[in-house]
Amino acid sequence: MNTLTIALSKGRILTETMPLLTGAGIELCDDPDSSRKLILETRDALVKVVIIRATDVPTYVQYGAADMGVAGKDVLMEHGGEGLYEVLDLKLAPCRLMVAGKKGDRRRNKRLTVASKYANITRDYFTARGIKAEIIKLYGSMELAPLVGLSDLIVDLVDTGNTLKANGLEPQELIADITSRLIVNKAAMKMKHAQIQQLIDRLAGAVNRN
Ligand code: AMP
Repeated sequence: MNTLTIALSKGRILTETMPLLTGAGIELCDDPDSSRKLILETRDALVKVVIIRATDVPTYVQYGAADMGVAGKDVLMEHGGEGLYEVLDLKLAPCRLMVAGKKGDRRRNKRLTVASKYANITRDYFTARGIKAEIIKLYGSMELAPLVGLSDLIVDLVDTGNTLKANGLEPQELIADITSRLIVNKAAMKMKHAQIQQLIDRLAGAVNRN
């Protein structure tokens, strides 16, 4: 039997994925909320969990530093999906990736500026529509950008829409429906197939019971 490393990120993904992992028979030895360890042991000596930044999860899995991981579809789209398989929709943290702008302002100038932390997705989205957009890469609080004249539009996750509304913005175009996905390193899928497939099947069962 081989060792299996699963990459998770702190916050919502960890909180919501833990019950699914427990349902699939994987229990952590330490409480991830209080532990400062980055590598967490499980009751199964062969299975380890590494805790990393959400945007780094596809990179760890791509290079095989983790065999599997859980990442939002938004993070996967931005990464591009090289070197990994997306094997299961965990149906967690549902939201929408949207273009948003000032309420009532639907103008699409010849030259648009769009602020987002999703620079690749944003570039591809506007290019596919024949719109020349200057992308301004931000790392947070995208909603501020149109208010202070940094950009015409933003691309961001929308759940209830309250954050947009509170800032005089509105959702305008849907780019993609988003949930958390289970991803697997392509080489690991071959080398550790039986073990990984068994875990995928157990997690799929836990998703259906969820
Ligand atoms: P809301 O006001 O409910 O529309 O939430 C919008 C804010 O929460 C934005 O700052 C989003 O980036 C963030 N957000 C919404 N849904 C999610 C999600 N599923 N995962 C991570 N961030 C989210």
